[in-house]
Amino acid sequence: MARPPQLTAERACSSVVVRIGAPEFAALKDLLFRRYPEHEWGTFARLGWRETEDGLILTFAALDSPLPGELNERFGHVVINEPYSLRMALEAERHPFAVAVIHSHPQDCRPDPSHIDDDMDRYYSGYLSGFAPGRPYASLILSELKGELVLSGRVWWRSRWLTVGKFCVERTPVLSWAHGKAVQKALIDESRYARLTTAFGRQAAQRLSRSTVAVIGAGGTGSAAIEVLARAGVGRLVVVDPDVVESSNLERLHGGWPSHAEERISKVETAREHVRRINPDIEVVAILGRLPQKTVVDAVLGADVALGCTDQQHSRLALGELAFRYLLPSIDCGVVLEGCDGKVTGQILQLVRFLSTDPCVLCRRMTNPRRLSQELMSGEERTTRQAAAAEALKRGEPPDPYWAEETQLNTVGYLTTVSGAMAAGYAIGWITGRFDPPFARLQANLVGKFLDTTDSEDTASPECACQRARAWADQGAAQAQITAPSHWPFPKRL
Ligand SMILES: [Zn+2]
Ligand SMILES: [Zn+2]
Repeated sequence: MARPPQLTAERACSSVVVRIGAPEFAALKDLLFRRYPEHEWGTFARLGWRETEDGLILTFAALDSPLPGELNERFGHVVINEPYSLRMALEAERHPFAVAVIHSHPQDCRPDPSHIDDDMDRYYSGYLSGFAPGRPYASLILSELKGELVLSGRVWWRSRWLTVGKFCVERTPVLSWAHGKAVQKALIDESRYARLTTAFGRQAAQRLSRSTVAVIGAGGTGSAAIEVLARAGVGRLVVVDPDVVESSNLERLHGGWPSHAEERISKVETAREHVRRINPDIEVVAILGRLPQKTVVDAVLGADVALGCTDQQHSRLALGELAFRYLLPSIDCGVVLEGCDGKVTGQILQLVRFLSTDPCVLCRRMTNPRRLSQELMSGEERTTRQAAAAEALKRGEPPDPYWAEETQLNTVGYLTTVSGAMAAGYAIGWITGRFDPPFARLQANLVGKFLDTTDSEDTASPECACQRARAWADQGAAQAQITAPSHWPFPKRL
């Protein structure tokens, strides 16, 4: 057996993020609080993982609960009997995931590792590296402090200990704890958030201030969402968009001015500037790029919630995949104007919920394969196909099946603002734990009678990747629904 590694050189690493889906967290909590409030309990689990540019993302893939007799019931703290360790080690030889030991601390005991925990982690990090070489070993502690769920953790990775900087549990607000205290931003400005505090409580304002929301697309819809999130006091925003501001965007772009279009300033820089004016304490990570480029995925996976605010098929598909493979909950929003004989007949707003258990974009038949393939083409290929299609049309031949101009009516600023603001509102509901979106896939026609609202609960195909590779993170790469084409410009973090 490898010599147990020492616990020295533990260091803070805010970019180790642990993500847990709602059904798994409920099962984990029931198990770990089995002897609550006085006594502890523990379990092994397997985690999907992804190495990012500056850390790790771990996703809770499955619980490996103890069988009767595998934990010693005679002690108040967790004592793992050898057969359980061996069973888990042999399992690890057969699966590709990282192994975790997760245990509870008694009610109102902080989730700081004890000397016993230090011994346990030193032992397992060495022991398991013999069975799961090159994979992280994680040790997590769950506790309930003053009525709030608190999680701490450390990870043995590449011969050193990293501290988990953030836990994201789907639909359940939790407090991340590291180095003996809560990981959170400075106290919030009480007067500024007085209205929000009155509506949702002081705890809600604190939860918002330590949360991160990723906004994919910083155009009309995205800029409206960003404005709402910034004013509500979300502490950190990750904003992704590849484009610069054009003068035609100014009809709808919150924070956009003619000078942005004249100087060809990027939409993400424009968003960052706008947020700074609203509240300079908010951190904005601005990325010129697209999903699912690696840099973009790495940054987006640090968020509690993501909002899909583009009309791009590839972006929607990628965001749906992040929900099931990496447990990132998101709301996709879009708007469509329908017209006939010079009259606007439909102003349709769509909000789609992507929780980790929801059917993916493909199961919901939300993509247009032709538009998707057009988006992923290189500029050169697009020009060639466009020219060939025009020639074919002149000759009266049927059009190229891979190229057809899709007529899309442009939308207008009040619709994008409504849709972005609503999506931001539901993100606030999830983060604060105060309300959930009351739909799976909502469509409303703003010019229809009673808004002509419909909700569709789609079902997933059991054969689909969303059912087979849920929470598998990078270990589910073979099931990827979309990869970034190599001709896209390399993403840039501003
Ligand atoms: Zn402990
Ligand atoms: Zn699916």
